[in-house]
Amino acid sequence: MDYPTHALSLRAWLDRLQQTDRLVVAKPGLSLRHEIAGVANRMDGRKATLFPQAGGQKGTVISGILSDRNWMSESLGIAPADLLARFGHASAAPIPWKEVDKANCQEVVHRDVDILKQLPVPTHNEHDSGAYITAGILVSRDPETGIQNVAIHRCQISGPNRIGILLLPRHTDHYYRKAEKSGKPLEIAIAIGVEPACLLASQAIVPIDHDELEIAGGLKGTALEVVKCVTNDVRVPADAEIIVEGRILPKTREAEGPFGEFPQYYGERAERHVIEVDAITHRRDPLFHTIVGGGLEHLLLGAIPREATILAAMRASLPGVKDIHLALGGVGRYHLYIKLDKTQEGEGKNVLLAAFAAHYDIKHAVVVDMDVDIHNPREVEWAISTRFQADRDLIVVPNSQGSKLDPSTDNGLGAKMGLDATIPLGSPEMKFKRIHVPGEEAINLDAVLDPERRWQF
Ligand code: MN
Repeated sequence: MDYPTHALSLRAWLDRLQQTDRLVVAKPGLSLRHEIAGVANRMDGRKATLFPQAGGQKGTVISGILSDRNWMSESLGIAPADLLARFGHASAAPIPWKEVDKANCQEVVHRDVDILKQLPVPTHNEHDSGAYITAGILVSRDPETGIQNVAIHRCQISGPNRIGILLLPRHTDHYYRKAEKSGKPLEIAIAIGVEPACLLASQAIVPIDHDELEIAGGLKGTALEVVKCVTNDVRVPADAEIIVEGRILPKTREAEGPFGEFPQYYGERAERHVIEVDAITHRRDPLFHTIVGGGLEHLLLGAIPREATILAAMRASLPGVKDIHLALGGVGRYHLYIKLDKTQEGEGKNVLLAAFAAHYDIKHAVVVDMDVDIHNPREVEWAISTRFQADRDLIVVPNSQGSKLDPSTDNGLGAKMGLDATIPLGSPEMKFKRIHVPGEEAINLDAVLDPERRWQF
C-alpha cells in the first residue's frame, strides 16, 4: 500500500488502518463502563479499536486511532522524520479556514438534548467520577474579536444537558473571563470524531489568538472546511462526526472529577466550570472517538506538538541541537532526550539549561551525541551508563516550576535534573568508538540464510 500523499479524513484513516490490519472491531454491545477502556488499553499502540452498539445503544465508539508516533505522520501524509519540522511550519504559516453552508456534521440535529441517550459516552478508569468526553476538541470564540481557539478539555457528563469542564488558566479560560466579566456565557462547541490534522493541531503550543483550526489547514496544506453551529456563531470542522453546542455559564461552578490523567494518576475533584448544552448535531451513524486517560494516544497527542515547539525554541539559540524527544516513560511531558552535535566543551550543560527554560513541564533532561538514537530509551540509558559521571556531568536545579500534575512535586514546585551524557571533546579516538561489524546492515539475510536446512545433516 502506497504511503499517503495528503492528510486523510477520519473515515479514510480508519479504512487505511483496517486494510493494513491495524483496526480491530469488537462484538456489538460491550459495556461503556470500563469494558471499552479495558479492551482499548489491551490493544494500545498495536491496533485501533471500534465498538459497535456500545452500551447497547446505536452508537459506535472508536479509540486508539493515533496510538503510535508513526501513525500520526502517516495519517497526515508526512514522512516520520519530517513530522516536527512540518508541524513547526504549520504553526508558523497557518491557512485560514473556508466556511461552507452544508455539512456532514449537521445531518441530524437534536435540540432536545439528553447527552447519554444520544451519544455513547464511556467511563474509563476505576475512580473516574463518571462518563467523560475525552477526545472532543473544544472550539470557543473571543467574545470581542470573534477569533477562535481550539483545545481539548476533559468534559464530565453531569446531567442530561450539563457538562463539568476543567479549564486551566490558558486560552479558552481567557476568552471565558472576558465573557464572564460582562455577565455573559461563553459560546462554545465540542467537535468529537475529527480528522487527525485537527486533533494534532488542537495541541499546538502557540500564542493566544492563533486559531488552531488554521494550523490544521497548515498541516493539511489546504483550508479546513468549517460550518457555523445551529445555535451559536462558533465555526466547527464540517466533516466532524459529532458536535455538542453550548455555553460555559458565567459565575457557575460545580463538582468535577476525579479523572484519570496522563501521568497515570487521578486529577482531583473540585468545583469547576459548567457547560449548558443547547444542541447536539451529528452525521448519520456517527463515530464517537474516545481517548482513554493515560494511554498512548493521550501521551502522543500531547508530546508531538510540544516536541515541535521545544525543538524550535532550543534551536533558535543552540543550532547544535539536532533533534529532541519527549520519552513515553516520562509520560510524554517530563523526560526530554536531546541529540547534540557538540562543538564546544560545556555546550551540553548549556543545552540542558535551555531545555528547562523551553517548557516548565520538563523535569529530567538527557543530552547525548549524534550516534545515539534518542527515540530508543535503551540507547539513551546506554549513553548514560558509559558516558556520564554524576560528579562532573549532573546539574540539579532545586525549587523550580514544574508540573502540578506530578504528585512528587509540592503543588508544582520541584527540582530539575540534567544529565550531560556527551563525550568530552578531544577524547582519544578509540576510547568512545562504538563497536561495529563492517557490512552488517547491508547483508541480505534471505540470500545467506536457509530456513529449510537443519544442523543435523
Ligand atoms: Mn490556543
